[in-house]
Amino acid sequence: MSNQNDTFKNLIAHCKEYGFVFQSSEIYDGLSATYDYGPYGVELKNNLKEYWWKSMVQMNDNIVGLDAAIFMHPKTWKASGHVDAFNDPLIDNKDSKKRYRADQLIEGVMEKLENKMNKEVTKAKKRFGESFDEVQFRATNQRVLNNQKKHEAIRVRLAAAMTNEDMADLKNMIEELGVACPESGSKNWTEVRQFNLMFNTQLGAIAGEGGKIYLRPETAQGIFVNFLNVQKSTRQSLPFGIAQIGKAFRNEIVARQFIFRMREFEQMEMQFFVKPGTDLEWYENWKAKRLAWHKALHPASKLRYHDHDNLAHYANAAVDIEFQFPFGFRELEGIHSRTDFDLKAHQELSGKKIQFFDPATKESYVPFVVETSIGCDRMFLATMANALEKEEIVGGNGKTSTRMVLKLHPAIAPVKCTVFPLKSNNPELVAKAKEVLNDLRFSVNAQYDDTGSIGKLYRRQDAIGTPYCVTVDFQTLEDNTVTIRERDSMKQERVPMDQVEKIVREKTDMRLLLS
Ligand code: ATP
Repeated sequence: MSNQNDTFKNLIAHCKEYGFVFQSSEIYDGLSATYDYGPYGVELKNNLKEYWWKSMVQMNDNIVGLDAAIFMHPKTWKASGHVDAFNDPLIDNKDSKKRYRADQLIEGVMEKLENKMNKEVTKAKKRFGESFDEVQFRATNQRVLNNQKKHEAIRVRLAAAMTNEDMADLKNMIEELGVACPESGSKNWTEVRQFNLMFNTQLGAIAGEGGKIYLRPETAQGIFVNFLNVQKSTRQSLPFGIAQIGKAFRNEIVARQFIFRMREFEQMEMQFFVKPGTDLEWYENWKAKRLAWHKALHPASKLRYHDHDNLAHYANAAVDIEFQFPFGFRELEGIHSRTDFDLKAHQELSGKKIQFFDPATKESYVPFVVETSIGCDRMFLATMANALEKEEIVGGNGKTSTRMVLKLHPAIAPVKCTVFPLKSNNPELVAKAKEVLNDLRFSVNAQYDDTGSIGKLYRRQDAIGTPYCVTVDFQTLEDNTVTIRERDSMKQERVPMDQVEKIVREKTDMRLLLS
């Protein structure tokens, strides 16, 4: 655990030191669970958004984009169920005055049981060596079986309590499981009560309830209310999707773990409208497609599906794609089969018909919806966590040293290439280096740096994940060749100066990810 904590702390420190992510309003001691993206952070985030947008919108004939407003008519949130049901169960510890999500405290107990079981497995693996059969061990070892049984009983009861909004049973579980406040160790708890996660504010000059509007807690509703506008203006026929990237706001009860859980965050959502009856087939289809999208960037071993135990009020099937963050497997993306719940609810509350006329069957119906919803910030965190490595390297003099290297896929790296002159005080070298930079700039994000020795400059570029560095040296002045150095292998090659743009463009092309 402490190892995981260290890894995570190092990652947060790296994000700050190298200009990826800063605590919001830091000079005022920060605002909890809000963060700002720095110069390299915004580039990486934009690249992740581009990867998503290209693969979801531009490479699909039947998915189109939208950018809806954050403010929406308050009735939107009544229809969607957010006013009445977008709650988390909240519990306070009377001694420490700390606030928790009751379901997360119970999940913490389940996680401890999982850790115990994993420990047993690791111990046995060591003991039995090569011949160890993990599946058989888990199915027969009594200690593992006992813990598995406890785990399953908690899981089933928690799912039922959450589905039935049974706050009393959540409290009973916390008491029966002997859950203590992680901060103070106290078991002196309040009752569990529902807490609505939507932020609200006032519109214009109208005071009181009449002017109350919400900051959207998800981007999806902007898509639902625009269904007919988009379908008619783009002459789409079913099945088709609408995608959008935008900010969402949730007044999370506990917001820790850096940018994993924020109160202001960004979502990339796509609603796929299908003919009723084909929804579950499309659900399976999107489930597979989305996992493949993640696998292009991240190792399969760090990704897994997690089926929902308690379905949201609008869903008939739901799965999370989980990523192995430094603090364990957690949700990165949700894929939900949302039935016709939202469109029907908006149709009823607005009194406007929201249906698709199927020219083939001459029928009108409310489409069913399959949604893919990923948090851009969680994607950012997963990408950074997966890429950051501390590496031992052997220098030319045979001495070993360490470097922090951000092994980002070249297509999403914030800077694709940085150009250095061997000597910053030589005007000819500087001029040549600027020439290379200006050529690169038209096609990729490139930089110039002459603020240190080449070795130091390499370290800095490694730490921000720049896949290529070009050095202009004295030989360049003679034959117009430069050295290009690749981040991961650290290999250097001499190439003609006028080839640099083409090499870097091709090797950092988003096409490499998309195909
Ligand atoms: P969780 O169970 O972690 O609270 P959720 O199931 O409420 O998440 P969804 O409503 O399915 O999340 O939202 C879709 C995606 O939006 C999530 O998969 C996640 O990546 C992202 N997301 C949700 N809440 C937050 C948050 N507070 N901060 C950052 N990203 C978030």
